[in-house]
Amino acid sequence: MNLSPWLLVPAAILLLLLAFQLRGRTRAGQQKKLSSLYFKGLNYLLNEQPDKAIDTFIQVLKADAETVELHLALGNLYRRKGNIERATRIHQSLIVRSDLDRSQRANALYELGQDYYRAGLLDRAENLFIEFINLEPAHTQALKLLISIYEQEKEWSKAAEIAHKLVGLGHTEFKKNLSHYFCELAQNKIDSHLGRAAIPLLKKALAADRHCVRAYDLLAREAVQRSDLREAKKYWKKIHRLDPAYFDELVGQIVDIYADNGMQPTLERFIGRLEQDLPGLNSVLLVADWHGHRGQQEKAERIKRQWLQDHAGAAALAALNRQHDLQLLNRKGESLTDALQTVLEDFSEYRCIQCGYECNIHYWQCPGCHQWNTVLRRS
Ligand SMILES: [Zn+2]
Repeated sequence: MNLSPWLLVPAAILLLLLAFQLRGRTRAGQQKKLSSLYFKGLNYLLNEQPDKAIDTFIQVLKADAETVELHLALGNLYRRKGNIERATRIHQSLIVRSDLDRSQRANALYELGQDYYRAGLLDRAENLFIEFINLEPAHTQALKLLISIYEQEKEWSKAAEIAHKLVGLGHTEFKKNLSHYFCELAQNKIDSHLGRAAIPLLKKALAADRHCVRAYDLLAREAVQRSDLREAKKYWKKIHRLDPAYFDELVGQIVDIYADNGMQPTLERFIGRLEQDLPGLNSVLLVADWHGHRGQQEKAERIKRQWLQDHAGAAALAALNRQHDLQLLNRKGESLTDALQTVLEDFSEYRCIQCGYECNIHYWQCPGCHQWNTVLRRS
């Protein structure tokens, strides 16, 4: 008989439990019936007929409440093996019972919630995790699973509520999440031109994480919607101080805003200051363009060349090439652009420092590992 190694684990658990069960029995009739069902189930399991084994164990369960832990263990094993349907059947048969004690009921709810979560039935998983957390309010793993559901469903208020609980339990790393959930809510308000309603949410975001540049960015956007550019400038300065790399993501928008509002002298001062202290590649390209459009081609090329010299690396090269049709020449004056094109096209400008996910636009939440603030421009 070829026995899958993973079957040995539940089989061993079964044998141990069986020995334990039989030792404590007083009623001979029940003992005989149970031992017969156990052996039947065990036999099915050893013969690799897990469906029949499960059906038999469900019969045992109906006859004997003490087998709850056995079924929890078995269901958990099935889920780990990817047999979600079988795990679900076992756990469903548990939670409909009225004679489980509080702890057994909590465990069954949590296990079934995980089955639904794995099967992608997020609504059902959510309901079970909520019920479970009512019984076990400080269960970190269940709270994290609930947060993951709310993030997938973009239920930011609910996600914030759970993140708040986790922070209260000492998981201060969730402050970052909390500030992003408030930012998501604020972003929705601003996108719907209900900017004023965003302000209290952004204050909450900054209360959770006072270095949240996204919150300052959204405050600036809200100020721009109200045409209060003085206030917007205040937030842009704050972002520049806190995170020059993110400020670099904004320079194009800032220039457009000054230009659209006919603020030529302010715009020129802004470009001048940027040129003194270039925070990143977007600024380099912007300043180079600025001079290029004013007939100062040589100056534009010098700025880009200088940046490449200071930041020698494929990331800078790829970005310059993608955005600027960079003409790369060898010493003989022959073009290298074609030869490098394929390599450069495949090169991503952003990368997640957590999981390595690569992309060409900035994300606040990594699409790969779902962490916040981990996607950074490569240097
Ligand atoms: Zn990632």
